[in-house]
Amino acid sequence: MARVNRQVILRNRPVGMVDSQTTELKEIPVDELSDGQALVKVLYLSIDPTIRGWMDDAPGYLPPIGIGEVIRAGGVGEVVESKSDRYKVGDIVSGLTGWQEYAVADDAMGSMSSLPEGIEIPVAMNVLGTTGVTAYAGLLEVGAMKEGDVVVVSGAAGATGSSVGQIARIKGASKIIGIAGGPEKCALLTDEMGFDAAIDYKAGHVARQLHELCPNGIDLYFDNVGGEILDAALANLAMKGRVVLCGAISGYNATDEVKGPANYFSLIINRGRMEGFIVLDYMARWPEIQAEMAGWLAEGKLKHSEHIVDGLENAVDALNLLFTGGNTGKVLVRL
Ligand code: NAP
Repeated sequence: MARVNRQVILRNRPVGMVDSQTTELKEIPVDELSDGQALVKVLYLSIDPTIRGWMDDAPGYLPPIGIGEVIRAGGVGEVVESKSDRYKVGDIVSGLTGWQEYAVADDAMGSMSSLPEGIEIPVAMNVLGTTGVTAYAGLLEVGAMKEGDVVVVSGAAGATGSSVGQIARIKGASKIIGIAGGPEKCALLTDEMGFDAAIDYKAGHVARQLHELCPNGIDLYFDNVGGEILDAALANLAMKGRVVLCGAISGYNATDEVKGPANYFSLIINRGRMEGFIVLDYMARWPEIQAEMAGWLAEGKLKHSEHIVDGLENAVDALNLLFTGGNTGKVLVRL
């Protein structure tokens, strides 16, 4: 019997948060494979804030998802049929599978790669996947973190932020402060993730608390959220302080114009630097970074958590967890 592929496609461009009008679940027959192709049964989807950006008709680092197209996303699956020299049945592979039950891997496009061996898939997709490489490259390459730095990270209890703080600890930061929403997330940072202090941005004045915690200023601020929290960090920059722009999640669902930082003048006063990056720029370094992260994982130096949501039909709800703060750790959908 022919296989059926369930897919989530983009029906309407969202205004604000993604809702039931944005996507549609469709069923289509799976096409016969051509030579050089393999059929991948998707097991897990990586739910990333950038997916929300791809749904907008706006320029980005990748083109927008077209209306009627499958929602673009990273995923991991098992090869179940193959007419390929590169992929054999039973292989577990990772790539841009999209929100669907079956994806096609193609020899010519080299579209899927294998996962690190001996690691559970959700863990590999978190600290050893895009998330871990983002944290590593952003902190150590873009931010050029040095031993003794005072490091502050926003979105600190999330997948990327929690890795950033722990890598900063491993690499000898003198103080690591996380900014997160709510007392439970803040307690998690200080009690389990090795942060020295945490600021609940929903409860208190962030700039004032940063000033108290970093009397000599912030050497490296890793920004996942943008907006007022970025401004609070800029106001507390140390001389030669560096700001790494990883994400700006506070603006991803904005319906009004997103304003830039008001306190950028601090970069002039403090001879500071602010630089953005996209993890794709570090693809060539991926194996080397993964290997170092895998070593820390094996030594128990890198804690991680995965927030797993079951069912393709719940992918939209899983995505929205990132914007409501309903997640702690890496959000994945298990199919
Ligand atoms: P995540 O941190 O696991 O989840 C997102 C978190 O953002 C939420 O848990 C929530 O935590 C926080 N948040 C949501 N709305 C907020 C708001 N208005 N103000 C402050 N915090 C808010 O997600 P992730 O996948 O690790 O991504 C984190 C950031 O990294 C995102 O900005 C993403 O775009 C960026 N990123 C960039 C790259 C790159 O190549 N540059 C690659 C991967 C990810 P609270 O409960 O604490 O509010």
